[in-house]
Amino acid sequence: MIEKNFFLADEAEMLALARRLANVVSESATTPEQALTFYLFGELGAGKTTFSRGFIQVLGHQGNVKSPTYTLVESYELDPWQIHHFDLYRLADPEELEFMGIRDYLDTNTIILAEWPQRGAGVLPEPDMTIVIEYADTSRSLTFGALTTRGRELLDKL
Ligand code: ADP
Ligand code: MG
Repeated sequence: MIEKNFFLADEAEMLALARRLANVVSESATTPEQALTFYLFGELGAGKTTFSRGFIQVLGHQGNVKSPTYTLVESYELDPWQIHHFDLYRLADPEELEFMGIRDYLDTNTIILAEWPQRGAGVLPEPDMTIVIEYADTSRSLTFGALTTRGRELLDKL
């Protein structure tokens, strides 16, 4: 796995890095047939939703980004992208994702951002990239890991 690590002094730096990744995604000209999938790891309060907010807003969402803690998923139709932002913290069994009709979420031009993806193991699509956020006092350390060719192409541009 190819990795890149970033030190983020505050929330503004976290948002800026998320925007950078979103810009790289939107500039990569291909229109992927398979969902582009990011797994976000980190403790409660690490910054997974904050990162997702920066990412989703840069791709054209102007409003608030709600944490999907209770709904499990919040979806955004952002021409040409459909983003599905999952938070599976409260998921009891990965099978619940099947009942929610997860297959219908996996269309062309789809981006999956998944917090607590380990709770959806075996049902969520495999990640192109992992994003691991760790506390460093009031700062954060963020490590991207590329797991597919597409993931590596994105990571190269970061
Ligand atoms: P998670 O989704 O991982 O549970 P959130 O993104 O909801 O976490 O919350 C992260 C919290 O940490 C926010 O209140 C944010 O303001 C704060 N924070 C402090 N420093 C940072 C930083 N460097 N990066 C991201 N968030 C930070
Ligand atoms: Mg969250």
